[in-house]
Formats: sequence, structure tokens, C-alpha cells
Amino acid sequence: MRVVVLGAGLLGVTSAYYLQQLGHEVTVVDRHATPAAKARGRVAPQGGAPTPQCSGADSTGTGSTLGRWAKLRAGMRRHVSRLVDRAIGARPQRDPREHLVRLAAYSRKSARVLREEGGLPQGSRVGGLLNVFTCAEAFGARLARAPHWSELGCEEQLFSADDAIRMEPALLAMRAKLAGATYSVEDPARDPAQFAASLVFMCRAAGVRFLTKHTVVSLKDRDGRIDRVELLDPAGQPMTLRAQAYVLALGASSVPHAEYLGVDMPLRFVREYIVTIPVKDASRAPRVALRDVQGKLRITRIETPEGDQLRVTATVRAGLEEDREPDSDRFDAILRRVEKLLPGAADTARASLATEMHAVSTNRLPMIGKTRLPNLFLNTAPGTPSWITALGAGKSIARIVSGLRPELQFAFRSL
Ligand SMILES: Cc1cc2nc3c(=O)[nH]c(=O)nc-3n(C[C@H](O)[C@H](O)[C@H](O)COP(=O)(O)OP(=O)(O)OC[C@H]3O[C@@H](n4cnc5c(N)ncnc54)[C@H](O)[C@@H]3O)c2cc1C
Repeated sequence: MRVVVLGAGLLGVTSAYYLQQLGHEVTVVDRHATPAAKARGRVAPQGGAPTPQCSGADSTGTGSTLGRWAKLRAGMRRHVSRLVDRAIGARPQRDPREHLVRLAAYSRKSARVLREEGGLPQGSRVGGLLNVFTCAEAFGARLARAPHWSELGCEEQLFSADDAIRMEPALLAMRAKLAGATYSVEDPARDPAQFAASLVFMCRAAGVRFLTKHTVVSLKDRDGRIDRVELLDPAGQPMTLRAQAYVLALGASSVPHAEYLGVDMPLRFVREYIVTIPVKDASRAPRVALRDVQGKLRITRIETPEGDQLRVTATVRAGLEEDREPDSDRFDAILRRVEKLLPGAADTARASLATEMHAVSTNRLPMIGKTRLPNLFLNTAPGTPSWITALGAGKSIARIVSGLRPELQFAFRSL
């Protein structure tokens, strides 16, 4: 079957790889020159919130393709179809975290297979991620969930405060506040750029065709199915692409297209604060990545051309129009928390701030599965910075498009 994957982000690329493996003829479209550009660090962080375009409009802003009538039509369709789509859309029956645990476990298994086959590099920078709890009650709740999550495939090890300090001596200064920790080896720290580049290589080797520098303008439906995709080629000339099935993997830009077609995509935007702080005392700086569960920070030590640095990230809800400016109080609060957790490790006076917007689904689960249009599928909004879940999402959507049952129990849409 001919399948068009819209978007060459990590989700589009993994979908394409597994679709090709299942025998389809796959074309991936992306406006960027480099597939998986974001994961490969080729897209600079932005300051403002991405405002979804009006329904079906050209998301590059190179000219609206819809007149007022089309917008009105889209609005009406959206209203009616949202109800239908909600009715068929899967609702997680359990704690959404359980679905994520299963998706991550399935993805790790898929990664191992690709590594054994030689497609994915072994990854030499495995440092792991230590989830640090400073609240005894929250750690107790995590301990209580441990047997069940372990059955679901979670591979996190449970650490007492002393074990955590043995693993990461930089935590010694906060020994009195430390309730415990969990540790996972398989973490995004495995180098997302290398991961993404390998996947693109594997796609090309398998015969996936990439149409880069091509912008998706709109998806046109006819008789209840997607009939064609309208694009702009690198010279800005309109062109049309037809296939038997379409996977929408445009990240946040999927929203206007889905809405125009009356497909409900309940997303919200979060602002990620990315604070970079030069390391002042290497002996006090962490070697493994830390997630401060109560402070909601993720701290990674990175080597940059400017030297040894801590990259501290925090995610907060953001509105579309408001909250366009980063909050300086939050920046200060992040610095205070870093100083409290790792006193003397970093030179907070020389910290710098960047922010990035991400779309996450309202239930925090990736949107993977069918829509009310039988030849349109979704793979978007992973809702987590974990790269590794992309493999499970891509493998599952490839099976769903092919009419096969996914190998994973998950809150897939419309199954
Ligand atoms: C808090 C948080 C932090 C995160 N941090 C990062 C990070 O640092 N780096 C990172 O890569 N991911 C990060 N992610 C994950 C990221 O948001 C994505 O989930 C992940 O990169 C893969 O998602 P994707 O493929 O759905 O989307 P994307 O990577 O956004 O890919 C979508 C693709 O569609 C293309 N596209 C969009 N509109 C059009 C159009 N009209 N025509 C043609 N092409 C189009 C884009 O060029 C892009 O390649 C983070 C997520 C969260 C929640």
C-alpha cells in the first residue's frame, strides 16, 4: 500500500521505518531540509508560543488557502465530528502513567532488537537517570506501585537515600532531605541526535522516500476519506500527493489540519524553561542525569564548547496568547532550587535562559491510532521528552495502518 507520512519528526520517522518494514511504499513529507531536525538539534529553541493556524490554513504563513466559507464549513464539521470522534476515541481506563510505562517497555524492547540487528548504535554515553524524591510520602507511593509497574515492564531500580548517594555522590549535600530515588539506565541521555540520525539512515536504507523542504498546506477529504494532500514544493509551487493511507505526524502543527477535518486533538501547550549554568565545582556536579521529582526539574551535565555546564529544564503550562514572555520569578526559583539540591556545584550568577514550547495531549498520553476518516491515522504528541517511546509509537501505528493488532496494550485511539 502507498502510505504518506506527514512530518519527519521522530514520530514520523519511526512510523515510516516500521511501515516500510511491513511492506508498504512510504513517502515522508517535511518542510525542514533535515529529517528529525529537532531531535538532531537543528532547530533553535523559540521564545513564543506556537499559535495554531486557523483550520487547514497554510501553517507556514505563505498564504491562506481557505476562504471564509471554507472556515465556516470547517467550524461546523469540527463541532459535529468532535462529538463522533470523542465517542470513538479511546479513553484510558487506568492511570495514564501505566500506559506510558507499557509504551516505554515496548519501546525499549524494540530498541534492543534494532541494536542487535545493528541498526541502532549501542550508545556509549549511557549515564542513566536518577529520579530523586525529597518527599517521603511521594517516595512511599512510588514504592507501593513498584511491584505492579515492574509487571508492566518498568525497569527502574529502587534506591534508598544512601544507595542514591553511592550512585551519585553529588547528592551528599542534600542527604538530610533525600527520601529515596529510582534509577533507570535506558534514558534519552543515550543521545537523541545519534538515535534520530540512525533512524533516518535506516529509513533511507529500507527505501523510504523523503520529500524534504515540502510544506503541507492542507489535507483534502472526499466521501469520508482523505483524497489527497496539497503541498508546496521547495520552489513554492503547489503539488498534490495521493496515497491509500496517511499518517499525521506534524507535531503541534497537526492540530489545525486535524481540526479542519473534524478530528479531535485535545492538546495543550507547555513552556519548557531551559536554564544553562556553568559548572563551578566539578566534584559537586552530578555525573548522571537527575530528575528532581518534587521540584519538577531535570538536571543534566553537558559538555559544550563553552565548557562543563548543567542543563536544567522545567516544564509549565502555557496559554496560547498569554504567557508569551518567560516568567523571571520562575527562572529565579529554578536557580534557588538548583543551589539547594547541589550547593556550590554551579555558578548560578552566570546562568542563561532559553524557552521552548511543546504540545502535549491533555491526558499526557501520545495520540496514536485511528480517526473517524478510515485512511487517516495519528501519531503525535508524545507528551514527554522521552525519545525512546517514539519506537513503540511508530511500530504500533505501522501495525494499525496495516490492519494488524498492535502488540501493546495501550490507550490507542479508536481501537
Ligand atoms: C517538556 C518536553 C520537552 C521536550 N524536549 C524536546 C527537545 O529538546 N528536543 C526534541 O526534539 N523533542 C523534545 N520533546 C519532544 C518533542 O516535543 C517531540 O515529541 C519529539 O521530538 C517527536 O515529536 P514529533 O515527531 O511528534 O514532532 P516534531 O519533532 O515536532 O516533528 C514534527 C515535524 O513536522 C514538520 N512539520 C510541521 N508542520 C509542517 C508542515 N506544514 N509541512 C511540512 N512539515 C511540517 C516539522 O518540520 C517537524 O519535522 C519534548 C517534549 C516535551 C513535552
